[in-house]
Order: sequence, then C-alpha cells, then structure tokens
Amino acid sequence: MKRYINIFKTLLEIANNKMWIIIQMAISSGLNNISSLLPPIATAGIIAMITDNNFNGIWYYVILYVIFYIFYFESLHWNYYTYTVLADYYHLEVQKKLFDHVANNDEIYDKVSKGKIIETCSDDVRYLVDVVDCFIKSLMSVVKLLVILLIFMYYNFLVATIVLILDLLYLYLMNNNSKNVSKYYEGTRKYEDKIIDILNQMLTNLKQVKTLNLMPKLNLNLDKTRIKWKEQYKGKRDNMTFRYCLIPYIVYIGKIFLYILLSYFVITKKITLDKLVLLISYFEMTITCTDSMLDNLLNLSNYGVRVNRIKTILDYTPQKDLDFGDVTNDYINGVVEFKNVYYDIGNRNILNKVSFKIYPNEINTIVGHSGSGKSTIINLLYRAKRIKSGEILIDNESIYNYSKKVYSSNVSGVFQIPFVFEMSIRENLALVDSNIKNQIEACKRVGIHDFIESLPKGYNTVIKEDQKQITDGVKQLIVIARALLSKAEILLLDEITSNIDPEFTVKIGEVLLDLKTDHTILMVTHKPEMMEIADRIIVLDKGKVIAKGLNKYVYEKCSLYRELKNRTFASISRIE
Ligand code: ATP
Ligand code: MG
Repeated sequence: MKRYINIFKTLLEIANNKMWIIIQMAISSGLNNISSLLPPIATAGIIAMITDNNFNGIWYYVILYVIFYIFYFESLHWNYYTYTVLADYYHLEVQKKLFDHVANNDEIYDKVSKGKIIETCSDDVRYLVDVVDCFIKSLMSVVKLLVILLIFMYYNFLVATIVLILDLLYLYLMNNNSKNVSKYYEGTRKYEDKIIDILNQMLTNLKQVKTLNLMPKLNLNLDKTRIKWKEQYKGKRDNMTFRYCLIPYIVYIGKIFLYILLSYFVITKKITLDKLVLLISYFEMTITCTDSMLDNLLNLSNYGVRVNRIKTILDYTPQKDLDFGDVTNDYINGVVEFKNVYYDIGNRNILNKVSFKIYPNEINTIVGHSGSGKSTIINLLYRAKRIKSGEILIDNESIYNYSKKVYSSNVSGVFQIPFVFEMSIRENLALVDSNIKNQIEACKRVGIHDFIESLPKGYNTVIKEDQKQITDGVKQLIVIARALLSKAEILLLDEITSNIDPEFTVKIGEVLLDLKTDHTILMVTHKPEMMEIADRIIVLDKGKVIAKGLNKYVYEKCSLYRELKNRTFASISRIE
C-alpha cells in the first residue's frame, strides 16, 4: 500500500499546480462507481413487479433504470474530460519541465544517460496521466467493494462472509503476483534503456562506427543485453500467465459454490427471486471490480517505475558554482587575458599557471599535443567551469562578472563538428538573428551566399544529416555565419577544420583572414595550413604555456611547435 501512496505522492509533486483537476477526476470516478451500483436495484425492482403482477410499477423501475444509466454515462463523460485536461498538462508541461531541468544541469549525464533522458521525455511522460487515473480508480474500487459488502451483509450475513473470504483470497494471490510482475517489468525497462542508449550512440556516430568496422562488436554487445532483457521479459510473461490463466480458477469454483447456496435459499424461500438477481449481479460486480482494481494496481506499480525515472531526473541538482555577474557594459574591445590560471578536474591538474594576452585584429592559435589542455582553455572562455585560481579577463574585467546576455553576445564560437539543426538554412541562422538582410550579409562574408542561392530551395534548403550538396565544409561555413550574426567581438574556434575537406580548410582560412579585421580570434588547430595563417602562437605542453609570441618567432624558438607543424604536414602528405 505504501508503495502505491509513494507513487501518488511523487506524482503530486510533479503536478504541483493541477490539484483541482485531480480532485475532479476523483469525484467523477467516485460518482461513476456509485452509479454502477444502482442499475441492479432497478432490475430487481422490475422482477419484483413482474412477480407481483404490478405493471404500473414496472414503468417506474424502467424509468429509474434509464436515469441510473444517464447518471453513469455522464459521470464517465466528466471523468474522460478530466483525463484529457490532465493528459495535456503531463504530456507537454512535464516534458518541458524535464527538458529545461536537464538543459540547466548538463552534468546530469554523469548519472543518467542521454538515451534514458530522451526515453523519459518522450515515453514516460505519456503515462503520467494514467498513473493518476489508476490510483483514483483503485481507490474507488476499494470504496465500491466495501459498499457491496455492506449490501450483502444487509441481506445475508453468511453470503457476505463467503464473498469476503473469496475476495480476500483473490486479492492476496493477485497482489503477490503484481509484485513479481512489476519486479520483472523494472528489469525489462532497465535493459531496454541500455539497448536504446547503445542504439542512440551508434546512430549518432554512424559514420565512425562504419568506418572503424565497430558494428559487429557493438552488435555482440547489444545481443548480450538483449538476452538479459529476454530473461526479464520471460519472467514477466510467466507471472502474467499465472495471473490470468490459473488464479481465476479459484474464484470460479467459489462462484459456483455461492450460486448453489443462493439457489438453495430461493428453493427454501429464504430469499425471493428478485433478491437472487440482485445478489448475483452484485457478486459479479465484486469480481469485475476486484479485477479492475488489481489491474489498476498492477499498472500503477509498473507506471511507478516511470514516475520514479522522472523524479530521478527532476531531483538531480548538481552543485553548480557558476553564477553570472551584473556587468552590463556592452562595448567590449576584445582583449582576452589569462593570468596565472590553474584549473583542476578532480585531483588532476589540467592547466598549470597559464598566462597569455591576446588582442583584436589578430589570429591567435593554440597548438600542442592531444590532451595538453587546448580545448580546456576554449571551454573556460565559455564559462562552463570555474578556475581554481588565477584570472581570466576580457577588457580587464573578470569574465565571471559579465551578465549572461552581454557575455553571450560578445563571445561566440565554432566547434569541431559543424553544429546545425535539421532545419532550413534560414531557420538555423534565425536561431541567432532573424533579420534576413543580416543573414545574407553574414553568408556573403563567409563566401557561401552564391552557393546557397544556387540550391533549388535557396535559403529554405533543409540541412539533413546525409545531404550530399551540403557537405560538412558548407555546414561549418554556415555555423561561422551564424556566429557572425551574434555580432560577437571574440570568436573561439576549436579545431573547426579537422572534420572537413582540404578545399574548405583553405576557404575557411581565407574567411578567418577577413574576420580578424574586426574580431579577436582564438583558435585551436592541428592543421599546418591553419597554423600558417596565425599571427601569434601559444604552445601548450601538459597544461603549461611553453612558448608564445609572433608566429615566426615561436617557430624559430620552440622545437615543439616546429615538430607539431612539420609532423602534421608529414602525416598529411603520407595520407595523400
Ligand atoms: P585534443 O587535441 O585531443 O583535443 P586538448 O589539448 O584539447 O586535446 P583537452 O580536451 O583540453 O585537451 O583536455 C586536457 C586534459 O583534460 C586531458 O588530459 C583530458 O583527459 C582532461 N579532461 C578533459 N575533459 C575532462 C573531463 N570531463 N573529465 C576528466 N578529464 C578531462
Ligand atoms: Mg581539444
């Protein structure tokens, strides 16, 4: 019982402002249950009138019968209405609430996988309204059963006792069975999640999966999980078979015994024919009512798994130490400075006393071995994490002091994988600026306007995953155009050419040479062509800056830079 109440409590927490509609649902369900108890009274009345030869009385009970049914269907109507209103809320609002929560606490991925979150957002929320419905229906079934028992007691105590014993036995067996079924249900959900997760990751990285021929190994992995899922599913089905094919026998044997007893009472004139009809109707009702209650309770504990999954996500609040300041000065020149910056992840030092200062109108490039901390520098400038000590300044003001709005409109960037949505080019650009003139201007500046215009649908072309015309290079240029639309002074570019064709690398290089005339550019790259266009170089080694300055100067002074530049050249020529 406690289990069911806990599920309902959680549900109320999730639906904090929908109490009134839940109350309406309970009232309508209660009325509906009570009204279902009334027709047998009218039926028994009709039989009593027939046996009495009172034909006027029959009409009275027929009208009563119709009224009882109108009452029954109208309360059901009301109940359906409350269900629809509540479903609207749960499907849409809770999904939004969940997504917002996840988006604001992205560290949640350490605890809950993305696949599971998507499943919960799309699937679990759809069942929330059913949980409320099941809970209310189960509760009302209990009330209805008690009322029926009282009716039996009123007519015959022995019959009431037999009905009670039969019902309790049935309830006991079914409830035990429900526990097993929901245990196995939880198991199937767990492995379903795992499978969805792997499928999701496979689809996201399909290109790499195919190129590296990872499919067979991943399929093996999936198969193992599928076998575990099968075991759980079989456990569930076995219990369901027991539930629906074996337990009912007990009730049917009891039922036959009760009917023989009632018939005996009629023969010995202890009860009249109309009472026989009434009691049989009510006994049938106790069975259907117990059945529906048990089904609802079973659903409730199954859906409870869904409710708890939603709660796990909503309850997750990582310790975020980042807060944004209130400096709203929007006139930023774009001078970026790292002053003795230390940054740790856990106990591991990632950046060690990093200092450098960069200015507008220059391309500044960070180079270094993989894992040396290049992306970390870029990510810190997105204010994703706070540093351990030191200062990061923009125009001599700590980056943490700027308001969110000012900061995001002055610092923008592009990542390694072109980040576009499956929307039209125009819609992608409009995520930052919906002014068509500005969009065209930005696309002209990165040199893709004419290309876009040459497409049959121009700016309305939808960017799809495997679209041949819009290659990753084009996508990356669209992303750069979008970054330009933000009017940011500072552009952060992390390996933006590493995934695209050489011709686009050259093109992007040309674009950057133009963009530096009115931006501060901080770029991370492994590509020699991109190192070539840099004005200044920062060389990172194991989290430390080991050289910085004008490109030519660093090339002469720093062997690591020479090594990186030449090695990358060498590896490219090897591939070619
Ligand atoms: P690459 O050239 O491969 O992109 P990078 O120079 O950009 O490398 P970073 O991504 O900045 O390197 O990583 C610096 C170090 O921080 C690496 O040793 C990496 O393992 C570690 N690191 C980065 N992110 C995390 C994380 N979320 N948890 C633990 N360690 C991390
Ligand atoms: Mg990196």
